Amino acid sequence: MSEPVRRIATEEAFVTPDIAAATRRIMLEPECPPALRGLANSVFGDSEGARRLQNQLLDIGEGRIAQMDETGIDVHLLSVTSPGLQALPAEVAAPLAEQANDILAQALRNHPDRFWGLTAIAAHHPQRAVKEIQRGAHSLGMRGILINSHSEGKYLDAPEFLPVLEAAEAERQPIYLHPREPSPQMAGPYVDYGLYTAIWGFAAETALHALRLIFSGTFDRFPKLKIVLGHMGEGLPFWLQRIDNRYSLFSSLGALKPLKRLPSEYFLENFVVTTSGVVSPAALELTLKAVGEDNVLFAADHPYEDAAEAVAFIDTVNLSGETKAKILHRNAERVFQPAVRG
Ligand code: MN
Repeated sequence: MSEPVRRIATEEAFVTPDIAAATRRIMLEPECPPALRGLANSVFGDSEGARRLQNQLLDIGEGRIAQMDETGIDVHLLSVTSPGLQALPAEVAAPLAEQANDILAQALRNHPDRFWGLTAIAAHHPQRAVKEIQRGAHSLGMRGILINSHSEGKYLDAPEFLPVLEAAEAERQPIYLHPREPSPQMAGPYVDYGLYTAIWGFAAETALHALRLIFSGTFDRFPKLKIVLGHMGEGLPFWLQRIDNRYSLFSSLGALKPLKRLPSEYFLENFVVTTSGVVSPAALELTLKAVGEDNVLFAADHPYEDAAEAVAFIDTVNLSGETKAKILHRNAERVFQPAVRG
C-alpha cells in the first residue's frame, strides 16, 4: 500500500477587504479601460456569482480549509487575486500590498501546515517593492512573489523594474507571473466579445510578458531569476520549437537582437509552469515533454476553477507515481522554499 500523496496547490487566490474595495472604486471610474472594468466587475461586481467569488477570496481560514479537506488538497500557496495591486496607482497599491502581506502572514501563522504564501508587491513602486520582497522573505516566511502581469500597462523588462528583479534573484524568491487582462496597448480587439478574460486574453498577455523578459536579455542579467507561469505555461511549451526556429532566422536577418542562448533554453532554465485551469491530458503530456517533469507543478486556481476536477485529473491521468509526486508536491517543495527556516 502506498502513502497518500501530498497535494500542494500553487495558484490559489485570496483578497483583502481593502484591495476588493479599491478594485471596485477603479472599475467605477469613467476612465477605467473597458477590459479592466469587465474583469474587475466579473469578480468584484454585484452578481450572485461575483459575490460568491468574493466570499471565497476573503476566506483564508476555516472555510477554505474545509474546502481543501473535501477535495484532498493539503496546502494552498496563497496569492492576491488578479488584477490586484497591478491595477491600482503605485501610491495606493504599495501600502495595500504591505497590509495584504501582514494579513497573509497571520494566516500562515494560524495554519502553518495548510497555507504557504507569496509576497504581494506593487512592482510599479520599485523602492517599496524591493523592501517588501526582503520583508516577505525574511520576516513573513513567504516563498516567492506574486505579480499580476503588467503594472498599469508597464512590463517587467522596463528599466524601472530592474531593482525588483534584482531583489527577487538575490532573495531567491521566484516570481509567479499571474495573468490579468491584456494591457491597454493591446486590449482593443479583445473587448468586443469578452476575450480579455481567462478564455484567451490572459494567456496572450502573460505569454507576451514572459517573452518580453526572455527577448530583453533579462536572464543574461539575472541568470538565477525564476519565473512561474500558470495554465501550462500560458501555451508557451507548445510554441518553443517554432519560437527558436523563427528566432534563429530573424536574428540572422538583423530583425531582432541576438541573445546568448536560444529562447527555449531560457524557458527551460528560468521558468517553471503550473497546471492551473487546464485538465487536458494532451496539454499535460505536451507540457511534460517540452519542459520536463521537474518543471511542472500542480495548481487548482481556487476559487475560479473546480478543485475536485483538478485533483481528479492528476489522479487519473496516465503517468507514473513518481511523476505525479513531482507534479503534486516535490517540485513545489523545491521551487517555493522559505528563506527562514525553523
Ligand atoms: Mn489564477
